[in-house]
Amino acid sequence: MRVHARRIHSLNGSQPNIHDGPVIYWMSREQRVQDNWGLLYARELAGATQPLVVCFAMSPSFMCASFRQYDFMLKGLKEVADNLEKFSIPFTLRIGAPDCEIVRLANDIRAGVVVTDFDPLRNVQGWQKSAAGELKVPLIEVDGRNIVPARIVSDKQEYAARTIRPKIHRLLFEYLEEFPKLIPQSVSLPEIATPDWNGAYRAVNVDRSILPVELASGENAAHKTLASFLKSRLKNYAEKSNDPNGESTSVLSPYIQFGQLSAQRIALDVAATGAGESQDKFLEQLIVRRELSDNFCLYNSDYDSLNGAPDWAVATLDDHMDDKRSYTYTLEDFDRAETHSHLWNGAQNQMRKTGYMHGYMRMYWAKKILEWSISPEQALKTVITLNDRYQLDGRSPNGYVGSLWSVAGLHDRPWKKRPVYGAIRYMNERGCRRKFKVDEYISRWI
Ligand SMILES: Cc1cc2nc3c(=O)[nH]c(=O)nc-3n(C[C@H](O)[C@H](O)[C@H](O)COP(=O)(O)OP(=O)(O)OC[C@H]3O[C@@H](n4cnc5c(N)ncnc54)[C@H](O)[C@@H]3O)c2cc1C
Repeated sequence: MRVHARRIHSLNGSQPNIHDGPVIYWMSREQRVQDNWGLLYARELAGATQPLVVCFAMSPSFMCASFRQYDFMLKGLKEVADNLEKFSIPFTLRIGAPDCEIVRLANDIRAGVVVTDFDPLRNVQGWQKSAAGELKVPLIEVDGRNIVPARIVSDKQEYAARTIRPKIHRLLFEYLEEFPKLIPQSVSLPEIATPDWNGAYRAVNVDRSILPVELASGENAAHKTLASFLKSRLKNYAEKSNDPNGESTSVLSPYIQFGQLSAQRIALDVAATGAGESQDKFLEQLIVRRELSDNFCLYNSDYDSLNGAPDWAVATLDDHMDDKRSYTYTLEDFDRAETHSHLWNGAQNQMRKTGYMHGYMRMYWAKKILEWSISPEQALKTVITLNDRYQLDGRSPNGYVGSLWSVAGLHDRPWKKRPVYGAIRYMNERGCRRKFKVDEYISRWI
């Protein structure tokens, strides 16, 4: 088998039989043609005799996603459809409740098996569970997101990076392998509708005031960004990745989030550079920190609430609930970047305008929301709402974990006690001034 057997997990207990009929790849989290384990597995099942069809079932609204994120996604999917054509693999776009659409398609073409992407978030898991119950054929999940599959690396919620790191490193040599090539198909194909892209844009039923951003979408743009990172920015990563003015991070998170680029491809290419300390520091973020987020969301259904925070953090936040706040703002104040702090407003503006905020600023930004909100619950809600509304990479395990890390000590430890924060790690503008040229950042974004 070309796809590692432990990436594969049946969602309804049935196992595929390759002679049973057409194969559907229900593309969801991994929106790409290259380096996609789910697509490769579906192609493998189809073999030389059965047709493979790729379907994306688009819900007209999705969590807090705005028009900006739908636009980015639809542009990327259009490229997916064009690229699949080169392999004679048809792509269909269905609009509606994804679980119902997939079941309908499977019945229409008398599919023998449906393959889909691993996703730890509850709404996608809800669709998968419902489809698994309705389908008369196997529904098979493939983890094409994590280098070491999330269900394999650990069977429980990990305490912190230090507990998942050795588990990942122990298995990495087995899973960090080169991808096989996708093989074109040459079988007669079932009748399926071609995508109506204009209809899809019209169907999107979300906040249209949050406009698309300049960042180019799609696999091609993702690979170009990776190439430019490897060529000019990776070497500075160890020294400069905490400087929001220096362009030393990869800015790959939007492409990873929409599955337009595989983290495994990034890791393989970065590992081939021999970039020393920068390489190690980058791979720690890309692999250990990112896969820790999927681990948390997979095993903790309270991943976006204070109920998901460690007990010590909840207790310390409770103890400091009544501390006097120097400033308090509402979600709307924060959203409009109307706080007293130019640095905070600058970070908010960077996110609103570009759909991306530098990682160091995300920590400062979220911690100040904790300090300037009437309660930790309110703070967490504000952080998650704004992150999901504006960031292209929002609505992701990394987003929920980053929010809980900042506001409620997830994967962290107790620090020296302070007002409002209790023992939650503190950050302030003075600390930022020691790290980077704060005024330069402010003048860029205000
Ligand atoms: C409050 C808060 C909110 C966040 N929201 C998101 C989010 O919505 N989506 C998101 O992808 N990341 C989020 N992060 C994590 C991190 O800040 C971003 O992944 C990173 O800044 C993206 O920029 P980059 O691609 O240039 O990162 P790089 O530094 O180039 O890192 C490469 C990749 O490694 C991964 N990575 C880097 N830092 C982290 C981290 N701390 N935790 C987990 N994975 C990491 C990401 O996939 C990233 O694209 C958040 C962090 C905080 C503190």
